[in-house]
Amino acid sequence: IRSTAGPNVDDSINTEEDDEEDVVDLAASSLLNKLIRQSLVESSHRVEVLQKDPSSPLYSVKTFEELRLKEELLKGIYAMGFNRPSKIQEMALPMMLAHPPQNLIAQSQSGTGKTAAFVLAMLSRVNALELFPQCLCLAPTYELALQTGRVIERMGRFCVDVQVMYAIRGNCIPRGTDITKQIIIGTPGTVLDWCFKRKIIDLTKIRVFVLDEADVMIDTQGFSDQSIRIQRALPSECQMLLFSATFEDSVWQFAERIIPDPNVIKLRREELTLNNIRQYYVLCENRKDKYRALCNIYGGITIGQAIIFCKTRRIAKWLTVEMMQDGHQVSLLSGELTVDQRASIIQRFRDGKEKVLITTNVCARGIDVKQITIVVNFDLPVNQAEEPDYETYLHRIGRTGRFGKKGLAFNMIEVAKLPLLMKIQDHFNSCIKQLDPEDIDEIE
Ligand code: ADP
Repeated sequence: IRSTAGPNVDDSINTEEDDEEDVVDLAASSLLNKLIRQSLVESSHRVEVLQKDPSSPLYSVKTFEELRLKEELLKGIYAMGFNRPSKIQEMALPMMLAHPPQNLIAQSQSGTGKTAAFVLAMLSRVNALELFPQCLCLAPTYELALQTGRVIERMGRFCVDVQVMYAIRGNCIPRGTDITKQIIIGTPGTVLDWCFKRKIIDLTKIRVFVLDEADVMIDTQGFSDQSIRIQRALPSECQMLLFSATFEDSVWQFAERIIPDPNVIKLRREELTLNNIRQYYVLCENRKDKYRALCNIYGGITIGQAIIFCKTRRIAKWLTVEMMQDGHQVSLLSGELTVDQRASIIQRFRDGKEKVLITTNVCARGIDVKQITIVVNFDLPVNQAEEPDYETYLHRIGRTGRFGKKGLAFNMIEVAKLPLLMKIQDHFNSCIKQLDPEDIDEIE
């Protein structure tokens, strides 16, 4: 089969995978988010709290001092540059540090301070003089476990005698080993193995149990059941904490199964809106035509930074090559890259080293590069039934009303796809204007 990719692409480097759409891998997105995160995500919503005992007083804190933490822990927090608790921490920390310990289910989007909160709780409850595992944290992948471990190490850097150990595949500890580290972070499978088969962790001595990224966790085959088996072996006085960025019914059902008598804290995410985005479409005949239209738009307006979404890796690769040959500085972000590579590409883009990022669905969500002013749908997002994927459209183009700047969105549309665009327009009740790419003065 001849490729329609044009003369500049070496077909031999394309694989079958290139024609597939990149699926969103929850664990990878979550890791990417952590790697590129630089600060707290703000929210204009109120924290919602559901107490297990509604008659007990509800405390919130505005400073870390109010928590009466160990000196060395407070020092660690300030050394990380934290001045005051985040919105979710204001409510969550007093509950997590209460006596007697309370169980908690907390949900808020990534970047709102959940990890820092439970790391603080673990470090504050650990007894450095007792040399056995006291805190257990389950994470969905090895890389995510490592990220959390790094936070423990940073926040706990003045807690000199507290140590972290990773229960992850490949970390082979012989049976009968005496684990002296107080905090264990691992994936459910390996933790289960260490507890029941190797018997090197005594679950009856665990005081704090954390289940992080519950939404990612239940997405992985077997992890829910394994987590529940571990939880069942914990002592009744063990504090149990569960965190999730999202809260579909499935996450909620799992949370209720695994956390007895919980308090619940939720922070709604900032709503995305298309209100301050001017949307256009350009009718095109084929891919080459789309490319020409793109070039016309590209040169004609003074832009900040742009992100261009393509349907498949092959198209993204083709477009990247074309644009580079036309002298544009662009970078390509697609699913074949490792998460570390993706993070470094996003970082370069953030730093303004490239003006244009070409990508597939791999990052439809989650990369919040604030200075992006232009989004191009080189291909419209559609689902498997070839219907418009409204969610993805919104995530690509939408901004949060409160923090968002004005933006521009361009949709490159083949005539046959026009009905899809009309559906999108109706769905969002917004106006997508047609643009003649030869006459970009039309852009207001
Ligand atoms: P989540 O677990 O919800 O994704 P994190 O705990 O990883 O959120 O926090 C997101 C980012 O904000 C991290 O870079 C973290 O260091 C930082 N952060 C967390 N809590 C605070 C705070 N109270 N003040 C300042 N920065 C914070």
